[in-house]
Amino acid sequence: MPRDPRYDILFEPVKIGPVMAKNRFYQVPHCNGMGRVWPRAMAAMRGVKAEGGWAVVCTEEADIHPTSDIHPYAELCNWDDRDIPTLALMTEAVHAKGALAGIELTYHGISAPNRYSREVPMGPSAAPTAYDPIQARAMDKADIRNYRRWHREAALRSRKAGFDIVYCYAGHDLSMPMHFLQKRRNHRTDEYGGSLENRVRLLREILEDAKEAIGDRCAVALRFAVDELMGEDGITSENEGREIVEMLAELPDLWDVNVSDWSNDSVTSRFAEEGYQERHTAFVKKLTTKPVVGVGRFTSPDAMVSQIRRGVLDLIGAARPSIADPFLPKKIEEGRLDDIRECIGCNICVAGDNTMTPMRCTQNPTMSEEWRKGWHPEIISSRGSDDSVLVVGAGPAGLECARALGQRGYTVHLAEASEDLGGRVTREAKLPGLVAWARVRDHRVLQIEKMRNVTVYRASRLEPEHVREMGCARVVIATGSSWRRDGTGRVHTRPVPGFGGAGIYTPDDIMAGAAVKGPVVVFDDDHFYMGGLMAEKLRQTGLPVTLVTPAASASSWTENTLEHGRIQVRLLESGVSIVANRSVTAFAGDHVETACVFTRRPLPIPCAAVVTVTARLSEDSLGRALTADPDALASAGIHSVTAIGDALAPATIAHAVYAGHRFARELDTDYSADRPFRRELVVGPGEV
Ligand code: ADP
Ligand code: SF4
Repeated sequence: MPRDPRYDILFEPVKIGPVMAKNRFYQVPHCNGMGRVWPRAMAAMRGVKAEGGWAVVCTEEADIHPTSDIHPYAELCNWDDRDIPTLALMTEAVHAKGALAGIELTYHGISAPNRYSREVPMGPSAAPTAYDPIQARAMDKADIRNYRRWHREAALRSRKAGFDIVYCYAGHDLSMPMHFLQKRRNHRTDEYGGSLENRVRLLREILEDAKEAIGDRCAVALRFAVDELMGEDGITSENEGREIVEMLAELPDLWDVNVSDWSNDSVTSRFAEEGYQERHTAFVKKLTTKPVVGVGRFTSPDAMVSQIRRGVLDLIGAARPSIADPFLPKKIEEGRLDDIRECIGCNICVAGDNTMTPMRCTQNPTMSEEWRKGWHPEIISSRGSDDSVLVVGAGPAGLECARALGQRGYTVHLAEASEDLGGRVTREAKLPGLVAWARVRDHRVLQIEKMRNVTVYRASRLEPEHVREMGCARVVIATGSSWRRDGTGRVHTRPVPGFGGAGIYTPDDIMAGAAVKGPVVVFDDDHFYMGGLMAEKLRQTGLPVTLVTPAASASSWTENTLEHGRIQVRLLESGVSIVANRSVTAFAGDHVETACVFTRRPLPIPCAAVVTVTARLSEDSLGRALTADPDALASAGIHSVTAIGDALAPATIAHAVYAGHRFARELDTDYSADRPFRRELVVGPGEV
């Protein structure tokens, strides 16, 4: 289909200093958990974005010197010329597909404890570093001169490595130029401290240095957090943020603006809507003639057009939407809006970086597999046989499996017990703030509806005899899981006394609308979002709620998805009592017994009901019944029965989508379980 003329404006070129972006789609710098550790995988991922139509594709943070060392986080190094070949992997991959490559030069200062380099960290003033019990020292004038030289040399190396856009980075509360700007961190009395003009001096100098060094061929971008969302203690878009933009207005070739810190910049959909940064960043374009890029989890082309037409942004910045769908620009260009895989705003991708592992994406199972498995987000090999496939269960695993098998050209039958498709996604999307998660289902259902070779059977709970009667050569069991009722999980390896009977509820009960009497104790031994959401939902109905967790805080794993702080605020402000470092050890009908995880000291908490959020049980009875009778399988013509997703081992929705995709990719190929993917080796042939 041709492109809708409404979206023509998104495909206008934009001049950025000496370079030209071919359209307005701009992948802003983002971490990915690969970087210097798995650079081939990182470069291939960036190359796929370029192929998908992004005019500009940027790196993650690139440390410029050993005194700014963020190891073991998997970012990039731009320390000396020996880093150029690694950096060039990325620029070559991006240029090969016709996009510009940008690099985010980073000097962490107090944000990095220099764990690998063991250098003493430096900042505007002496202060503790962000993560470790070590402090940064205050920079003297010689340090500032050195830093400027390092930054200039890193810019020159970037040009040598082929970059078109080079960043000066003052964002996320993660970089030293930003720390110099902050009056709460910069206590200097020399010309780099005190007045705002003085605090801006260093940022101005590195911008001027970079322009002088590489400005002939490369654009110099400034990434600046215009608001720290902490009131007057920080930079605000009403006051100092605005003044800084005024002071530097025409100096950078590009303004890349956002809010700080990272948890504010990458808010999940649970806490903010598409375009949520506009109220903070919209002023920038009024103060500069240079192009402005900003983010807001944009997935809707209409929202993008509106940003341009209303003069908010010149370039549509994206990290997460480009991860969920690297081909987002191409799909808009080709008038294939139905095919866009919209980011759901869950931050599973961010958790990859925070756990220092190649990022996953809930919506895009090929993310980080571009190089090591050769997976392409849009292309998949044709079917390897004429086998028909029965997929049982239409949760995220079953839906993605059926979709990808359908794309390969297999004849697929997808049977779902309930009337609704989507499995856990359909249930969970009804929880407070999770409505965007339904996109996991909707995208796949929409694709499957277009496929004549995929048949969907709703309200079709299959028993073993049904499966055998259907006689498909391949059977995929994607029947999901259910929450345990007996309290078994991480702290309790056996059932908890009093659990399992009256007054005990699981998240499945609550999501199904069970009427619960208060007060309620939510026992969260899962630590991701579900325990906190149960407390939030029950509290919304007016019940007194206490969340008891063996962790040190509610929903502790959400540190990795940057939601942890917001979850505490929401629970505490809605009146949920949080009892941390305790496990529930028994339910006696009118109270639970709890024990301190350290001292075992008991504490009873009165309640009429318990919602237990500990672990899930795979729904694997169908698969087990089928495989228990191999003769019956053989005579039904069934070659294989394979459990995937939660039916095999409960995990995140991202894992389920991945499992479905993986089965579809690997069916009838020479995939070997002994060597599931290519690796990048430090010693040896380099890659295997
Ligand atoms: P996953 O996350 O692995 O995709 P879900 O729990 O989200 O798992 O989805 C599993 C789906 O399988 C649910 O929609 C459930 O209704 C369906 N299901 C479970 N057992 C059967 C069965 N025997 N026949 C058909 N569908 C089933
Ligand atoms: Fe979006 Fe979630 Fe994918 Fe990240 S993991 S890009 S937030 S869908």
